[in-house]
This record gives sequence, C-alpha cells and structure tokens, in this order.
Amino acid sequence: MTFIRNQKVDKSQGEQQDGVYTCAECGQVLFEAKYKFSVGSGFPSFWAQAGESIVQNLLHTYGRTRTQLLCSKCKQHLGHLFADERTPSKVRYCINADALKYKL
Ligand SMILES: [Zn+2]
Repeated sequence: MTFIRNQKVDKSQGEQQDGVYTCAECGQVLFEAKYKFSVGSGFPSFWAQAGESIVQNLLHTYGRTRTQLLCSKCKQHLGHLFADERTPSKVRYCINADALKYKL
C-alpha cells in the first residue's frame, strides 16, 4: 500500500483539503484536514497534529507499549499513535471518528 497525500477517502466528510478537525468534546482544533489520509483501517488517520493540542500517554497493556492520544484540554481519549514509514512524519495518528468533528 502506498501513501498518497491527497487521497480522497471519506466522502461523507467532503473532499476538500481545507478545514480542520476539532475535538468533539471541547472544540479545540486537533488536526488540519490536509494531514488526513486513509490506510484502509476504517479509522481516520493523520500524520501531523495541530500545535500542542494532543497529549501522548504511554500505555503498557498486554505486554505491548502503545501510545494513547488525549485532547490536551478536556483529556478525551482520541486514539493511538503508531510508527508508520509511509508518512512524511513516520508516525500515524489513528483516531476514533466519534472523537472528532469536521469544521470548514
Ligand atoms: Zn477536547
């Protein structure tokens, strides 16, 4: 699977590269839409966050280390961070769709 920066994936959210994704709880801007891409997992994925809006929390569960992502303002659970060689940042933010709201 190749990483395509401008891949259009989520028809329900429109096809534009403009706009931002905000926290569904507190409205803080978490991601810019232009950083969104799809890896076929069904989860919205991003390769960069907006500013300091996301807190990373190391979890040690089931013998594995995972990085949990939380909103820095309201501490809502957003998803997890994974290493991903396909992205420009070498990481992938795998986000729960219910935690986000799209705003143009
Ligand atoms: Zn929040």
